[in-house]
Amino acid sequence: MPSPTTRTRTDACPGVVSPHAAADGALARIRLPGGTVTAAALRAVAALAREAGDGAVHLTSRGNLQLRGLDPADPRPVERLTVAGLLPSTTHERVRNVLTSPLSGLAGGLADVRGLATALDRGLCARPALSALPGRFLFALDDGRGDVAAERADLCWRARGPESGELLVAGVPTGRCCSPAEAPALLLDAAAAFLDLRAEHAADPSARAWRAAELPGAATGVAARLRGHRSVSSPGPGLDDSTPGGPGPVLVGALGGGALGVAPVLGELTAGQLDLLAESAPQLLVTPWRTLVLPTPAPGAAARLAAAGLVVDPGHPAVRVSACAGAPGCAKSLADVRAHALVLIARGGPRAGAGPDAVHVAGCGRRCGAPHTAHRDAVATGRDTYVIDGRTITTEELR
Ligand code: SF4
Repeated sequence: MPSPTTRTRTDACPGVVSPHAAADGALARIRLPGGTVTAAALRAVAALAREAGDGAVHLTSRGNLQLRGLDPADPRPVERLTVAGLLPSTTHERVRNVLTSPLSGLAGGLADVRGLATALDRGLCARPALSALPGRFLFALDDGRGDVAAERADLCWRARGPESGELLVAGVPTGRCCSPAEAPALLLDAAAAFLDLRAEHAADPSARAWRAAELPGAATGVAARLRGHRSVSSPGPGLDDSTPGGPGPVLVGALGGGALGVAPVLGELTAGQLDLLAESAPQLLVTPWRTLVLPTPAPGAAARLAAAGLVVDPGHPAVRVSACAGAPGCAKSLADVRAHALVLIARGGPRAGAGPDAVHVAGCGRRCGAPHTAHRDAVATGRDTYVIDGRTITTEELR
């Protein structure tokens, strides 16, 4: 990760108000703090994709939604997403990056973190200074199972039990602890401390760090600025088992507590599939692993969603394959990686054997959208060639 001194510009993560200019039109990212979205809001996104975009909606590796093929001058995305409640702030929209353990309160975990993302989001939007956070800055609320703590959040509150949890800065325990109800305020104070700290490291705003991990001594520096919050002397149980680079949860199929996990192939949904999901549950959660959790699915939902091309079988090969946007959507791409990834899925998916059995197919070395969980990268070197496991292969040989 670059040090702050290597930064030469402020980050430019896309939002809805400020979309990214891609080769296939404007790309808008819709933040869903905690991944939560109502069926009504999902229908609004589906209508927008159909009428103003390319007809598809993509899930991102931070549990957000993305629309492509938009006209940058079209006012409908901002208007309609505001009405749908998905754009509560135009000043803070790019910093509303909050993950929560998707199964919290449904199955497993040490504490119930449901509702905390909403409180954090409200507090974030209410503090004008925090609009200066980088668009890549990530909050996480982990219910103790370590799933979102492994997603490289800048600031994570991780439960140690039902009544207490600890602040981690770039994955490093700080000894600052509080109850679940106090976690949003602790995280917001820590975010303000991060902004102070990075300003001390670089006076020039364009040279400032985008991520806490880029700042030397970030955990110590942030913790020292949180004098009003309690501290503990040593980490409690469960804090040492974060497994960045581990296999990651497969939230597909029956998940316990009656919840259903659904995986769109390559994280892409048609507007029709989105409407069907909205008919299948009153509220849904988008996970950072490009799946959706339906906490209370309607009877027969799994069969209907499967018939519409969505994956509800955790053993399906699509569960182990991801891809970046690729050509033609991204001008940097050397190959039509999504078409190649679909062929790989049709062939039964990546080979089993030594090493991770998930594959991310990318059109160039930036490897956008690669999962943080264990996987192998297949990076295009030409229209029909890839490098994987250090070897150059043809698309035919992609496994
Ligand atoms: S990995 Fe490269 S080709 Fe793929 S979306 Fe990112 S920049 Fe484009």
